[in-house]
Amino acid sequence: MSPRQRFVLIQILTFGGCFAIGVAMVELHSLVLVGVFFAWFALGSYLQFQIRCPRCDVPIAYAAQFLHISLYSGFKRTTCRNCGWDLTLPARR
Ligand SMILES: [Zn+2]
Repeated sequence: MSPRQRFVLIQILTFGGCFAIGVAMVELHSLVLVGVFFAWFALGSYLQFQIRCPRCDVPIAYAAQFLHISLYSGFKRTTCRNCGWDLTLPARR
């Protein structure tokens, strides 16, 4: 599985899960589910940042450097923004 496929999979799980929890939240009027919703979203976001380029080890959500601040985005990439590695190739490790 390539880094890009893993990234897409986690995004689907994150947003799919958020949608399911969101629907349950509205239907059940449960305050606990509000916590679950944000916990799920935080976990999904965290996991997205754990996916790194196999060559330079920079998170593939990395977008650019701006005024010494690293910018990240949730956009799916086909190449690494830091070293240009093809993220559609299967991970070597
Ligand atoms: Zn890279």
